[in-house]
Amino acid sequence: ENLQQSLDRLKPQLCQLASVDAQMQYVVERFQLGDNEKKARELLVQLLQEVFVEFFPDSQILPFGSSINTFGVHSCDIDLFLDLDNTKVFQARAKSTTEQAGEAMSDDGRSEDSILSDIDLSSSSTNEVLELVATILRRCVPSVHKVHVVGSARLPVVKFHHQELNLHGDITINNRLAVKNTRFLQLCSGVEDRLRPLVFTLRYWAKQKQLAGNPSGAGPLLNNYALTLLIIYFLQNCDPPALLTVDQLKDMACEEEECVIEGWDCTFPSQPIAVPPSKNAEDLCPLLFGFFTFYANFDFAGSVISVRNGRALPITDFLSQNKAEEAMHEEKPTKTQPQGPKLGPLNLLDPFELSHNVAGNMTERSHRNFRRECQDADKYCRSLQYQRKSIKGKSWGLVRLFTPHGDAPRATTEQLTISIPFKLASLPETLRNELHMAGDGFRLLWFQKVCSAVEGVFKNVLRCDIAPSTDAVFGQDSVVDAAGEMETSLNTSTNDSFDSSEAQDPAVVGAKRRLSSGSEASASPQGKKARMTKMRKPELPHWICAHKHMVWAGRRRVRRELIKDTDCRPEGSCMELEAQVTDHIIEKEPELKETLEFKVQPQMVGETESTKTVLTLEPTSDKTGVFHDLFHFVEIFLPKMVETLLEKEAARA
Ligand code: ATP
Ligand code: MG
Repeated sequence: ENLQQSLDRLKPQLCQLASVDAQMQYVVERFQLGDNEKKARELLVQLLQEVFVEFFPDSQILPFGSSINTFGVHSCDIDLFLDLDNTKVFQARAKSTTEQAGEAMSDDGRSEDSILSDIDLSSSSTNEVLELVATILRRCVPSVHKVHVVGSARLPVVKFHHQELNLHGDITINNRLAVKNTRFLQLCSGVEDRLRPLVFTLRYWAKQKQLAGNPSGAGPLLNNYALTLLIIYFLQNCDPPALLTVDQLKDMACEEEECVIEGWDCTFPSQPIAVPPSKNAEDLCPLLFGFFTFYANFDFAGSVISVRNGRALPITDFLSQNKAEEAMHEEKPTKTQPQGPKLGPLNLLDPFELSHNVAGNMTERSHRNFRRECQDADKYCRSLQYQRKSIKGKSWGLVRLFTPHGDAPRATTEQLTISIPFKLASLPETLRNELHMAGDGFRLLWFQKVCSAVEGVFKNVLRCDIAPSTDAVFGQDSVVDAAGEMETSLNTSTNDSFDSSEAQDPAVVGAKRRLSSGSEASASPQGKKARMTKMRKPELPHWICAHKHMVWAGRRRVRRELIKDTDCRPEGSCMELEAQVTDHIIEKEPELKETLEFKVQPQMVGETESTKTVLTLEPTSDKTGVFHDLFHFVEIFLPKMVETLLEKEAARA
């Protein structure tokens, strides 16, 4: 089901309700986890608990995240924390008794034939333990499949899928803080009734606008936890406040509730009853409107949002803090020194782990989109269409707010370029001779070689699916076409093939996309002709590339694993190795939820001396928001790989 279909199914019910408040309550009803789903999750937790204690004596498996934080939706993943602290105690005790007795343990049968006897928890790495967890899942838990360890994440995790329940699950260790922040969200939800409808509505809005929902937790978009904290921060800053700050909540806790985890104060009341109700009596409709206004005008550049203090801290405090730390590290590198948060376009501190920016993964662009969507929503909420039910049966209230962007969302109309300079002197002699023999056409020949090298990298190294027929780009005719085009674009002193106002228009880009990839005919010469006459300016030859996997993420680690210590070939110097890295990622890492599709258009520009190949990359479908990451990788990787390939070809000749 795509975004539009999802809204189409929701629309009739929403439109017939009487108010925005009722619509928001309906969104909760419609998406929240049902009792059966909760029961199924509980049973899975029980089952896993039973299996894991067999291997990890006294261990505990604790659910956290959306399955239990009151904000879970149908089919959300199940997040689990495997608490091994008691197992460590057990192991230490077992060790000392063995040593005392001077023989292998026998009276406690468990430790003898347990997998655990192979691993010493006090000295093994997180990833070693997770590999063991993965093995246990694979071998001992029925209906569980697709088990794999993702060791490169901020918090390494074992992912799995439960086939019968159709549930995706994550198991982490060393994640006690997440269990605690889940309790905190539960508390907020219990104290403030309006939080759930706000969170459900805004999570759905963010999903429809492609602002949140990263594939497997990675990527530049806002995650649901961060979005929830933004809502809590907004409620702390309403007038009068609708929620207390974390510091204020701390003062309401009793002695037994005091809690410090990894040095961070996590004290707050366990029961909502300990917290007095707020004086804010606003309805949901104006509160939602208020959220958009608040963030549409927020000074993101100058602030670090603190849910703990309930106010924005000046970013300058953190800039100097980070500098001071750097200076200290230079003198004496030490790990115990607390690190400042990773600053970015949106800085939102975790309520407990105060050195962690929960939105640290966001890019300038994903932040810009968030802000712009808040501004658009703010504008829309001012209209009567938002606040009043249409008597003519038109869309109103949340429906218009939830409408996704069209075919070409504006988040993906950006074009980015990579340039590969012409380096005659640096080319091997054989190729140089070949180029000279080609006379005036040598630049063209060079361009053609670069193009086929680029295609080689995308196709054989990064394993893209490429369409349309690459002959359209590399046949001699096409290169001449490209050269002709090049002249036109040189005359107008721009390397854009159409003017920029047109390029920004999603409708035009969408139309181009349909023209360039929609019909079979477009790959044939006739198809291309037809296309050219239809458009104001003809389209240059190009490739449409598609990726199902994030083959650009975590390459360094995979490369290191593959080449071991003996070989230190740098990135981009060996085609076979890079292809292996790609294959490894494709095999081991999960697929993207939606395929990334982008257009690559090569052009030759510049005078003889400064000739270069300019590659324009433009996303044509980027529902998961990963294009930027891909681009930043390709920007460095591609020129290096192309050079390697050209050298290799010359050597062969
Ligand atoms: P959903 O799974 O529906 O997207 P969720 O709240 O479960 O929502 P996850 O990304 O699965 O979100 O994260 C699970 C939990 O892990 C969160 O509820 C939170 O407790 C913790 N968590 C997630 N991201 C962060 C983060 N960036 N910093 C700190 N804790 C986080
Ligand atoms: Mg989750």
